[in-house]
Amino acid sequence: MARDSGGQRVTAPASRIDIHSHFLPRISREEAFAVERERAPWLVVDPGGETGQIMVGDRPFRPVYQALWDADFRVRELDAQGIAVQLVCATPIMFGYAWEAARAADWAARMNDKAVAFCAAHPTRLKALAQVPLQNTRLACEEAKRAMVAGCVGVQIGNHVGDKDLDHPDLVDFLIYCANEDIPLFVHPWDMMGGASRMRQWMLPWLVAMPAETQLGMLSLILSGALERIPEKLKICFAHGGGSFAWVLGRVDNAWKHRDIVRQDCPRPPSEYASRFHVDAITFDARALGLLIDVMGVDRVMLGSDYPFPLGEQHIGELIQSSVRNEADRAQLLQGNAKRFFNLP
Ligand SMILES: [Zn+2]
Repeated sequence: MARDSGGQRVTAPASRIDIHSHFLPRISREEAFAVERERAPWLVVDPGGETGQIMVGDRPFRPVYQALWDADFRVRELDAQGIAVQLVCATPIMFGYAWEAARAADWAARMNDKAVAFCAAHPTRLKALAQVPLQNTRLACEEAKRAMVAGCVGVQIGNHVGDKDLDHPDLVDFLIYCANEDIPLFVHPWDMMGGASRMRQWMLPWLVAMPAETQLGMLSLILSGALERIPEKLKICFAHGGGSFAWVLGRVDNAWKHRDIVRQDCPRPPSEYASRFHVDAITFDARALGLLIDVMGVDRVMLGSDYPFPLGEQHIGELIQSSVRNEADRAQLLQGNAKRFFNLP
């Protein structure tokens, strides 16, 4: 094991597990249009094969590069970054929650088969998280179970389905199902509030609304009392360090103490429920990561990157490596917690 300049042992980078990355497979225009002409995403790859564009309908959605769809290329980048294992999940534009349920279920199954195939070329390096048609609880449970049998190590869901937040009975039923089936869940914010009106510029939906969406998902589970009904064994991890959650939790506790309308469905102080959640470590700031670890506990924060997108950590694990001095803590954050949470070998 290596030692840093202070003589302290450092975690061997090759053992790092990155739990938050995205893929989008080569989906043709015809394949997407056959499912949902206006809303299904597809991929244009430029002639050189190195760059491309995610398309929705006939509109460009986001410029992307090869790592998004090419597993061999991705693993070469992981080698260069010293990442041993990376979890791969859908880019949220693939969710299809607003589509007709049976068509979305068929799409989810196809995307999950593509995710498993993407990882199959490098089975010890890449592991897939499934997507499910969350607008229909029965179909979502069926696809979650099928995908786990097919080789996925967990399920990624969006933080809401239209106006239904995570405390909606349909979504709570899905969470209970996953708890009882030992299916780890990763919750990703998406379909951000206010994007069409007051946040049209400067990526504001990603910078302002996304952290709020994540916090909304977490608070909806706490303040509704849903966590009192969901088995404690549920493994549920929220993206981007839980968004605004850790920073604002004191404000929520204060409101719970002083307003009965905040307490009415939630029997215990909101901060007591923080231990029911895991989060990834995507915070970009040592002070923020320190607070996150204090609030959530060092055993409930896991390395994530948001690779291969520009808003992700460009040197995966650098923040944890450079800011967490205790070796045992660092090992938990970089791989130990992820191994336990996702039942990895
Ligand atoms: Zn992400």
